[in-house]
Amino acid sequence: MHELSIAQSLLGIVLEEAAAHGVEKVLRVVVKVGAFTNVVPDSLSFCFDLIKEGTAAAEAALELTQVPMAGQCRDCGAELDFSEPVFNCPHCGSTAVELTQGRELFIEYIETAEPDSQPGADSAPPGQEV
Ligand SMILES: [Zn+2]
Repeated sequence: MHELSIAQSLLGIVLEEAAAHGVEKVLRVVVKVGAFTNVVPDSLSFCFDLIKEGTAAAEAALELTQVPMAGQCRDCGAELDFSEPVFNCPHCGSTAVELTQGRELFIEYIETAEPDSQPGADSAPPGQEV
């Protein structure tokens, strides 16, 4: 599954970052996802929630910011709307159009609990009873 492998690499990066900074708890992970990546946000969130259990990111909320596709004509420089497939520049007819935005897939921001935050500041995590 496409989203599962992406979720695994996202989690890997998050945990590496957390470990590098001595963080025990990750609160929020903000990820930019370009429309061209064909990632289904709900599916990615679902996979992330499945595999984050038992890690420093177990309580992390995954926030996905979608980036629409956009492009530019290399001949006349016109900005193009790639919400539908574009093969010709509507301004000069050139086929030298390129996608400049929409392939993004990266972690924009990781929010963590302060290492020295007061214990008990947050309530018992839900769903932890076994
Ligand atoms: Zn053009």
